[in-house]
Amino acid sequence: MNEFDYVIIGGGCAGLSLAYELDINNKLDDKTLAIIEPRAEYKRDKTWSFWKVINHNFDDCVMRSWNNFSINSPSGSHELTTENFPYQSVNSDLFYKKINTRLSKNKNIKFFKSISEINTNNSFIFNSVPEQNMDKSKFWQHFQGIEIEVEKDIFDDEIINLMDFNCEQKDNVHFFYTLPFTKNKALIETTWLSKFDNESLKDYDSQIDEYIKKTLGIQKYKITFKEKGAIPLFHPNSTKKINKINIGSAGCMTRLSTGYTFLNIQEHSKYIRENIDNIVNAKIYNIGKKYEFLDAIFLRVLKEYPEKMPDIFLRMFESKANTIVKFLSNKSNFLEDLLIILKMPKLVFLKAIFKND
Ligand SMILES: Cc1cc2nc3c(=O)[nH]c(=O)nc-3n(C[C@H](O)[C@H](O)[C@H](O)COP(=O)(O)OP(=O)(O)OC[C@H]3O[C@@H](n4cnc5c(N)ncnc54)[C@H](O)[C@@H]3O)c2cc1C
Repeated sequence: MNEFDYVIIGGGCAGLSLAYELDINNKLDDKTLAIIEPRAEYKRDKTWSFWKVINHNFDDCVMRSWNNFSINSPSGSHELTTENFPYQSVNSDLFYKKINTRLSKNKNIKFFKSISEINTNNSFIFNSVPEQNMDKSKFWQHFQGIEIEVEKDIFDDEIINLMDFNCEQKDNVHFFYTLPFTKNKALIETTWLSKFDNESLKDYDSQIDEYIKKTLGIQKYKITFKEKGAIPLFHPNSTKKINKINIGSAGCMTRLSTGYTFLNIQEHSKYIRENIDNIVNAKIYNIGKKYEFLDAIFLRVLKEYPEKMPDIFLRMFESKANTIVKFLSNKSNFLEDLLIILKMPKLVFLKAIFKND
């Protein structure tokens, strides 16, 4: 039976990012790698967006970058500019093609549909598949987006709308997100922060259609792409093993207060590559205990007081653009954390600190 030095379970964002990082740094010249991926074909299934606070390997897969972003709520709005950290959107189709083209040239790398096809007894495993079914009665960020094309140039393609809370909240947290790729093409998403078993929030098609027609004033549009997702706002359980590391969402690379994961996956891949020769003894990588602590408090507030969240986000965005971006991208220093924390309503956050989950 086939044996490999390394096995990556799941050839999605994390699995392929890691394989690519190892390959371009010659770590697979004399080591073998199996990638287990059941999907029949790779096609565009996601748009990964983030503020570019670090360099990554996929600048040539970026569909568009912006320096301006806005947030709207019923009580106000803010527009911010960040020259240092552009907001980028990566097209997953370009990402998959770039990586798979590169990996196909290395004869030490092989793809399999199922782990049962190989012997993993002597392999080191990087696993990106959650070990259990995730609890839907907990809080998730769930969303659906459509990319639309319209006849007239109606979008301002210099500014993204990160959050528009001018919509029905249904006792949860709900906002729309608009990425204008050109003046007549944009990705528009409806996003909920709620328990995932609440089926009444999942009529995404009609929510988006209503937003496009009533709020954006667009009556006629063509859908060119659709994406749907659900990101748990809690970390998955995993069993610790000497010959296995979890990566991607399964490896806790999601920032729980925001759902941003892509850039954390890239940093994790780099960390693994730097430590690959002694991976068994490498410390488990995390995105920062400070952020886990702050996000846990933030999520307690979100669960207790969903109606306060539009204003809490609005207040956060009163800070300087670079401060917010660094905070939301886990790159802030103590002073920047403090500037954000001081914007928060003191009493609700204090109560949340002393409340058990
Ligand atoms: C639609 C969508 C949009 C997102 N947008 C953003 C964004 O804008 N910015 C951001 O930072 N994050 C975003 N995320 C969150 C996160 O970046 C992505 O979910 C990212 O794809 C996570 O990478 P992953 O490798 O952990 O999971 P995936 O990319 O889902 O990869 C897991 C892989 O495992 C495979 N698999 C499943 N079962 C098995 C099995 N039994 N054995 C082997 N393989 C298996 C799957 O086919 C898949 O290819 C988004 C998520 C979704 C769903």
